[in-house]
Amino acid sequence: MTIGSIFPEELLKTKDQTLHKIALKVKENKRISFDEGVYLFENATLGFVGSLANYIREQKHGNKTYFNRNFHLEPTNVCLYTCTFCSYSRLIKKREEGWEYSMEDMMDIIKKYDDEPVTEVHIVGGVLPQYDFEFYKNLFSNIKKHRPDLHVKALTPVEYHYIFKKAKISYAEGMAAMKEAGLESMPGGGAEIFHPEIRDQIAGGKCSGQEWLDIHEEWHKLGMRSNATMLYGHIENYGHRIDHLEKLRSLQDKHQGFQTFIPLKFRNKGNQMSDVKESTVVEDLRMYAISRIYLDNFDHIKAYWPMIGRDTAQMSLGFGVDDIDGTIDDTTKIYTMAGSEEQNPALSTKELSKLIKNVNREPIERDTLYNVIQDYTNHVWEDDGQYKGYVSLPVNN
Ligand code: SF4
Repeated sequence: MTIGSIFPEELLKTKDQTLHKIALKVKENKRISFDEGVYLFENATLGFVGSLANYIREQKHGNKTYFNRNFHLEPTNVCLYTCTFCSYSRLIKKREEGWEYSMEDMMDIIKKYDDEPVTEVHIVGGVLPQYDFEFYKNLFSNIKKHRPDLHVKALTPVEYHYIFKKAKISYAEGMAAMKEAGLESMPGGGAEIFHPEIRDQIAGGKCSGQEWLDIHEEWHKLGMRSNATMLYGHIENYGHRIDHLEKLRSLQDKHQGFQTFIPLKFRNKGNQMSDVKESTVVEDLRMYAISRIYLDNFDHIKAYWPMIGRDTAQMSLGFGVDDIDGTIDDTTKIYTMAGSEEQNPALSTKELSKLIKNVNREPIERDTLYNVIQDYTNHVWEDDGQYKGYVSLPVNN
């Protein structure tokens, strides 16, 4: 049975007229406004936003919780830009501290996964002149020639803006050429916070929020899909967060090209913003829930478990999240270098399935485009004779 087909009517009994109106809108499948989004951040309890978000999540997906098996390829961590929140990159003048893979190095990494049941390679890294338009076209086509079934999800508007400008071609021409070379979808990175009041302070001179949106729009116009992120919990206010969500929602109305929204928690280790306090778990869950409520035209909200830890990721499944990222061994260094919860993130399919089942959800392995590869809900693992379905989470007194 789908728990969430029942609206939590008690929310309508609130004495707060604005919250009452918001709850009614959700019940009637209507969109909430910018001011109502900010109001939720400022006035609603975690329980209130959580119940609404869970209702929407279960309306859309029931108990289904998606994951995919991918690996990361990071061409370099040396970067021309100087984003203040970035713990991953090394400046060009200190390039000896970083790595810069050649085409051969990258193809060797791809080949290491030849016998693994992975369905996607996620490619993203720093921005350097030698990784230009021609380089990336060749990389994508080499990967597709070597392993046609491996989905290439690659680069953000930060890289595309830079390489298209250098090649003196428009976003439309550039994205069409990337598609031709083998690019199949775009990840959601580089979005940070769109609002210039914040972006100008933290994003180190890379593409603007509008340019980020324009590049995704060109990709969507080709009938292709992408994801979106937001880096939250640093110097932005609630208005900046809703502004970000509003811009995504508006673009999504035009082409329906976004699949998933991924809120990314700011971590303060090893970067220029180490004096900024990190958000609490409660704030993280509120962020997931309000994203779910606001982005009525996004199918999926994803939690990146290595960043927030597996416990919070598990909890997030009751606060609007229906997708958990990062399986097998997570090969990205982007978040571990920023002080993420999981310093050696590795979860087998079995472990991830159990993590999902332990909070009474159904683990579904998907491909990049959310086609179902395998439903693990009733899967019995070889060494798992004792497993009886629902298992209570441990309670610490
Ligand atoms: S966030 Fe990206 S663009 Fe900014 S410094 Fe780090 S690697 Fe470079």
